[in-house]
Amino acid sequence: MEALTNRKKQVERKPMTFWEKMYLPAIAKGMGITMSHFFKKKPTINYPEEKRPFSAVFRGVHILNRDEEGRERCTACGLCALACPAEAITMEAAERQPGEEHLYREEKYAAKYEVNMLRCIFCGLCEEACPKDAVYLSQTFAKANYARQGFIYKKEDLLIPNPVTQPEEYARAKGALGRDIK
Ligand code: SF4
Ligand code: SF4
Repeated sequence: MEALTNRKKQVERKPMTFWEKMYLPAIAKGMGITMSHFFKKKPTINYPEEKRPFSAVFRGVHILNRDEEGRERCTACGLCALACPAEAITMEAAERQPGEEHLYREEKYAAKYEVNMLRCIFCGLCEEACPKDAVYLSQTFAKANYARQGFIYKKEDLLIPNPVTQPEEYARAKGALGRDIK
């Protein structure tokens, strides 16, 4: 029968020699290969103690940004959701009430803001679409989870810590972003 490829190999069925029957040379050869790997540079890293550096253009989980006074920047305009090709973003807008000026930068804010990480393709279009510098993609990734619901990140999960009331947490979160944000 004609072969589809030329990769076919005839299996040799000649009887084993005395040394082959001893198996010792084959074991020694195998051990030699194993030993040679002891002296090679390890391609594995001890995660989670050691972490591989991400590429400068890596795009991970979103961060909802605040301004320098700690107010939420998002004005719930919906442009990020509109730009999202995966329809991963949902939000609900609310009106800022008198006395809430220290919480929200604009008259409108996102009362609910969710990103479905199972849908997201981390393209970064939401970040590009945002006119308020309110959403950024960080250099962290969505953690494994047993339930689908766990991949729907809510506003509380996405919002960066307040730079005024939680300066240390803010600095850590900003560091995890891997680049400058406004
Ligand atoms: S990164 Fe892309 S797919 Fe993910 S939420 Fe933003 S626009 Fe949608
Ligand atoms: S994150 Fe930006 S684009 Fe999306 S709703 Fe908020 S202000 Fe608009």
